[in-house]
Amino acid sequence: MFSHRLMKLVLLAFTLLLLQGIITPIANPVMAAAAPAFKTNLYGQAIVYSKDKTVELANGIPFISLDLLASAIGLSYTVPKGQDQTLTLKYLDTTYTATLGSKTVAYAGPNNRKGTATLAAAVYKSKATSRYMFPARMASSIFGLEYSWSAQSKVLGIGHPASPGSSAADAMKIKQLTDQNNALADQVNALQSEVSSLKSDKAKLESELEMQTEADYSKAVDGWITYETTHLVIHITPKADVKFHYLVTDAEKMLDAHESYFGANTLKGDKVDLWIHDNSGFFQVAASGRYLPWMDALTMNVEDAYKLAGDDSVRFLFAHEMAHAYQYHKWDIDKLGSKLSGQFAWLLEGQADYVAKKLSGYTQYGIDTDAPGAQRDLAYYKTEMSRRSSPSGWTPMNWSDIKTFTDLNGYPGFYFGFEAMVYFFDTNYGRDKYLMLYNNLEKGQTAAEAFKNTFGKTQEALMTEYKAYFGIDKY
Ligand SMILES: [Zn+2]
Repeated sequence: MFSHRLMKLVLLAFTLLLLQGIITPIANPVMAAAAPAFKTNLYGQAIVYSKDKTVELANGIPFISLDLLASAIGLSYTVPKGQDQTLTLKYLDTTYTATLGSKTVAYAGPNNRKGTATLAAAVYKSKATSRYMFPARMASSIFGLEYSWSAQSKVLGIGHPASPGSSAADAMKIKQLTDQNNALADQVNALQSEVSSLKSDKAKLESELEMQTEADYSKAVDGWITYETTHLVIHITPKADVKFHYLVTDAEKMLDAHESYFGANTLKGDKVDLWIHDNSGFFQVAASGRYLPWMDALTMNVEDAYKLAGDDSVRFLFAHEMAHAYQYHKWDIDKLGSKLSGQFAWLLEGQADYVAKKLSGYTQYGIDTDAPGAQRDLAYYKTEMSRRSSPSGWTPMNWSDIKTFTDLNGYPGFYFGFEAMVYFFDTNYGRDKYLMLYNNLEKGQTAAEAFKNTFGKTQEALMTEYKAYFGIDKY
């Protein structure tokens, strides 16, 4: 069955080849002079075509030459000699006897098997080729061959109807098919493995997606979005970026006062790292904001700042901390504090607040108690000084004990007094002089020397002026 199916396939293939013009059909039954040049395929099937000239048509019936038939299926034969008209053919275990001009073929085989078969046309000897010609269909039926004939295309096909697995040809074909099958099986296995792997990936991604969906965004540790401006590399958490993006867009504008007060190029081309974050997760333990001079970085918990007085407080925080960045770039703070026992908060915090509140115009606590910009005039400073530090104020100070500005350092939280000092010198002595005080301190001068060298007056004299200026001496 296997071979028969294959045979049909081969015949079909043969037809296809024919249609494609690869095989030339017998155009005109002719007589071949050359030796047969048949071809057999894998199944022993002889493919006959015109140039072999081993096929002839007689009265519309295809005849195949005995020598081609012999070569195609391996029968042996003897041809008539002299007056003898008898052809003897031996195929497998059967002997066939045919007579030229006769349609009858006698056969004899083992087990006393014998008989006659009648051909559709008599066997003859070709006058053109001297080949002995058998009617092809009858030859195939007598010898048990597969046979096909197309009257239209004049193509003859004939060959062994090989038994499954009985021939080397079939064994070879089976092996080929088995190999193909194994190769296909391997491919299927590979594909199944790939599918399995993809399924596993899919499951993993779905699992991850599910986890992401279920994650509480407010508790997630955010990544950072990074922006770069002229003076800053700004890292901001996505959550903070939603509400506080103006810090990114306005950052350079908010540094105008710093550039003006400390001087352009104070940062010397350095870009300060600004880390702006919300107040979720880990950031709950990173309150407010600060400048880290050793890293030239600034952190801002914007949600904390926002709680005070909204966006103004956020902008204030930025301006205040950035003022520290400018201070640390403008002066060597360690040297500046070397003769101050490391106590320089009164110098740094007052100036930072002055730049952020008075010059930049941001309020930290709201405009009612913490007026911004131009509203921060002498009257305001006097009123607030009294409200905060007079005997009837929030935190009364023993002003009589304070003889110098360095004495203010005994009240490290008194930022307002520090800021008022900057206002006092800025207004009465000029900005350049006040900045020179820092330069002199940086040079290693003591506070007494620095004040004297800068303003031409003793610290004590200047503190007396300070108290009178803000009305403290009236308390
Ligand atoms: Zn500060």
